[in-house]
Amino acid sequence: MKRDYYEVLGVSRSADKDEIKKAYRKLALKYHPDKNPDNKEAEEKFKEVNEAYEVLSNDDKRRRYDQFGHAGVGSSAASGGGPGGFGGGGYADINDIFEMFTGGGRARAGGSPFSGFEDIFGGGFGGGAGRRSRSTGIHGTDLKIRLKLTLEEIAKGVEKTLKIKKQVVCQDCNGTGSKTGKTETCPTCHGSGEIRQASKTMFGQFVNIVPCPTCGGEGQVVKDRCTACYGEGIKQGEVTVKVNVPAGVQEGNYITLQGQGNAGPRGGTPGDLIVIIEEKPHEQFKRNGDDIIYDLAVGFPDLVMGTKVDVPTLDGHVKLTVPAGTQPNTMLRIGGKGIGHLKGGGTGDLYVRVNVYVPKDVSGKDRDLLKELRKSSHICPNSSDQEHEKSIFEKAKDIFS
Ligand SMILES: [Zn+2]
Ligand SMILES: [Zn+2]
Repeated sequence: MKRDYYEVLGVSRSADKDEIKKAYRKLALKYHPDKNPDNKEAEEKFKEVNEAYEVLSNDDKRRRYDQFGHAGVGSSAASGGGPGGFGGGGYADINDIFEMFTGGGRARAGGSPFSGFEDIFGGGFGGGAGRRSRSTGIHGTDLKIRLKLTLEEIAKGVEKTLKIKKQVVCQDCNGTGSKTGKTETCPTCHGSGEIRQASKTMFGQFVNIVPCPTCGGEGQVVKDRCTACYGEGIKQGEVTVKVNVPAGVQEGNYITLQGQGNAGPRGGTPGDLIVIIEEKPHEQFKRNGDDIIYDLAVGFPDLVMGTKVDVPTLDGHVKLTVPAGTQPNTMLRIGGKGIGHLKGGGTGDLYVRVNVYVPKDVSGKDRDLLKELRKSSHICPNSSDQEHEKSIFEKAKDIFS
């Protein structure tokens, strides 16, 4: 069971951004892995704190969290993963945590723990910088795909099978990048993964340490390069992925499938697959939260005397009683025919908005009947001058005929 994010950061539900930032900073520094090497408990706490901050520091996410709880932000209901952005064990440098408060802004990669909801949409599709590689291996990049769903699918939840083009592990070399599976020490950096670059300035000589361009900082290069993947250990492929979409999702919600993104080069951990939900507009229904609205036009006599009508739902037709004397714009509720709540426990309702059906023109017998009705002040209470109107109408008819 996930802890409440406010509880995690030790702030009240009405805390402002500054308070949240301060609380986060304190805890992130306390539990940072660099300060607590090999301390599983601290690592878990650090992740928890990051996750809480990611949500509470983002207005949109915070609002949805306040409204829906954990289910409102990201995907925990669907994939067991946390809200997007903090997967695969990558974490921010301790320096970054200081920097984010001093404004020493270094551009952050898309997969950083601090990427907000917007960031996920901001990055280019099918790529992005991915999380920063640490000393072991290169991480695969995250993949984003859009998934269009009908209201019917959203109402009940749906399992979708997606075909995805992505980078997969090369079968020829088992992802090692080498025909023989062998590596050798990088000739450029001699295994350190770093090279020194000296630069002379008017203040003297400076030495910069940068990642080795030959091995990308790995310290090792492949021997007997695999020809199928050019030594990368990954190549373009197509896979099918199943994704369980819970009932009640909305446009813009996303589901993070951890480790289902692009494979990592030469045995690196894979990125995540981020499935972004889109909602197809429905021809008959409008959505209002978890309720849906259906507009129904009923003839005047039926409104007066009451009737039974056939009403479509997301799941077959139902009979609806329109009571005698129903006024225009009345909402009639059909319980449980709406959309399943994202946080579980129940379903929204179908509201039928009753309007009056008004024919554009009438003639013959219908016209005579209406004229007859008009004479009744109970039917037409405002039309006290009916005879006068009638005469104008008859005159007009004479002129134009
Ligand atoms: Zn290969
Ligand atoms: Zn190297």
